[in-house]
Amino acid sequence: MYLPDFEYFNPDSVEEACQLLLKYGSKAKAIAGGTDVLVKMKKELLAPEVIVGIGQLSQLKKIEYVPGKGVVIGSGVTHNEVQNSKVLQEKYLSVSEAAHQMANNQVRNLGTIGGNISNAVPSADMPPILIALDTTAKIVGAKGERTLPLEDVFAGPNETVLEHDELITEFVIPDGSFTGSTYMKFGLRASGALAVVGVAASVQMEDGVIKDARIVLGAVSPVPVRAKKAEDFLKGKPAGEEIFAEAGVIASGECKPISDIRASAEYRKDMVRVFTKRALNKAANEGHV
Ligand SMILES: Cc1cc2nc3c(=O)[nH]c(=O)nc-3n(C[C@H](O)[C@H](O)[C@H](O)COP(=O)(O)OP(=O)(O)OC[C@H]3O[C@@H](n4cnc5c(N)ncnc54)[C@H](O)[C@@H]3O)c2cc1C
Repeated sequence: MYLPDFEYFNPDSVEEACQLLLKYGSKAKAIAGGTDVLVKMKKELLAPEVIVGIGQLSQLKKIEYVPGKGVVIGSGVTHNEVQNSKVLQEKYLSVSEAAHQMANNQVRNLGTIGGNISNAVPSADMPPILIALDTTAKIVGAKGERTLPLEDVFAGPNETVLEHDELITEFVIPDGSFTGSTYMKFGLRASGALAVVGVAASVQMEDGVIKDARIVLGAVSPVPVRAKKAEDFLKGKPAGEEIFAEAGVIASGECKPISDIRASAEYRKDMVRVFTKRALNKAANEGHV
């Protein structure tokens, strides 16, 4: 399990990194924390001739609240930095808690939020909660920049809409009207396991009535998917166990899981039912976003 030879570049800016990715095309790979890329290289699943290091770029390292805009999270921020961020703990505790449910301490120390999204693994933990909070992704390339709703970044398992010279530089969780949110992960072990099912829920409550809701399901479709029928069902209803249970049944009918080594499709569907109900209950009752 030795690494193959490669040429390494250590650019000083995102712009320089994008130019290098453009110049070397499909021979090049960006690397942030390396917790995915290096594992794949050691397993001989990936053999880039050129590696462009972006993990050291200070441009990508911020977590800050910008009034009127929302919380800005640089793509190079590690999962432990997300978990321990005072800004996130105050504004979006659910995001900080989702990062805590990832992997193990070593991986959380190196792995980045940008790498987690760009990997586009269906079981990834950060996409559901970020999509539930209406997050956008800023994408910078050699020829310019664009901003997309995060849910539009995913194109399929392990695939995004990013061009080869493009990098995600930051995520913005906008100031919104959600009154509660959460991410619940079900894995085969209490820690360090990939999600068999991941459910994020966000709700806007007013006098016990659900004004708005988002339910995002992970690990049960090629890309993270919103349970839109369940969301619509909830709008205008009084919050309560029975309503949330019914939303769970609807959400379970909306996903298209596969059977694999971790669980059968039927089991995953049933876990969506259970975890959607639990996530809605938690989001509605815990009193924080
Ligand atoms: C033991 C172990 C346990 C794990 N457990 C979990 C888990 O519980 N949940 C989970 O979701 N994941 C898990 N992972 C997967 C992985 O660690 C995470 O997805 C991590 O966040 C990847 O980030 P990274 O910075 O290390 O990515 P890297 O390996 O550096 O890069 C991954 C991919 O993203 C691209 N990339 C990185 N940054 C950017 C950017 N800013 N813009 C565009 N492309 C970019 C790279 O080119 C590469 O294709 C685990 C991995 C290991 C090894």
